[in-house]
Amino acid sequence: MPDNPLARDMHIDRARELVASAHRIVAFTGAGISAESGVPTYRATGGLWKQFNPGQIASPQGFAEDPQRSWRWHNERRAALEGIHPNPGHQALANLEHRVAERGGRMTVATQNIDGLHHRAGSRRVLELHGSILRARCTACDATEGLGFRDVGEAPMCPECGAMLRPDIVWFGEMLPEDVWETARDEAAACDLMITAGTSAVVYPAAGLVELAARAGAPVLEVNLEPTPMTRVAEVTLRGKAGELLPRVVR
Ligand code: NAD
Ligand code: ZN
Repeated sequence: MPDNPLARDMHIDRARELVASAHRIVAFTGAGISAESGVPTYRATGGLWKQFNPGQIASPQGFAEDPQRSWRWHNERRAALEGIHPNPGHQALANLEHRVAERGGRMTVATQNIDGLHHRAGSRRVLELHGSILRARCTACDATEGLGFRDVGEAPMCPECGAMLRPDIVWFGEMLPEDVWETARDEAAACDLMITAGTSAVVYPAAGLVELAARAGAPVLEVNLEPTPMTRVAEVTLRGKAGELLPRVVR
């Protein structure tokens, strides 16, 4: 894709046109959009799963085996987020939501990230497909609890029923939260622009949202450092950092 600045500018112009004429936008985001904030991606070199065994900490089996080990790991990730801030990529999407709303349309962010940075950047319609590390939910009842950055120890209990809490995250092998997923599918099927940014688009069913939008006729705008399986359905591909490119598109 565009390595020379002239070609890139042409792509950015085309991306601006798409963004300016859309009324129903879905932005599908992944770990790459938070990378510039300093949140490590999972699969990249130096990514989190190169250092930890996901089966032991982020799976229902791993949690059942040793909840304290799992909580310890999640607590460390959560504590690290306090010193981490949204970057211009998150902010550009929040600005775009505001702008689209002003012209009578609406935009939704459907994120695979669990870091809460879209909310902190000011996005309001955020669908957390894989949950949030800033929340816990009960292993026995329906209760959920906002944790923020505070220290909850290694065996937090449900305030409603006293059972063990677990991080409110979709772990390996688990289903996506049904209501969130249904809303995301509806939005993707009805959007007139799908922006996919900073995701390898290989984790299903989440990545299926992009295909769903494309099949329904929406143009796809991809922003990524490298090609992904969604590049072939993208009408415009911007190769580079989301934190640099999205602000230029949304300016
Ligand atoms: P991934 O690690 O599989 O892929 C990251 C993608 O972002 C890659 O395609 C990479 O080329 C691209 N990228 C990296 N830096 C970028 C930048 N600055 N600008 C644009 N693109 C950039 O991540 P994924 O697709 O989100 O899938 C991983 C899974 O791990 C998800 O299910 C998610 O729940 C979870 N996860 C979440 C976080 C988080 O909350 N921040 C972090 C790591 C993983
Ligand atoms: Zn409970």
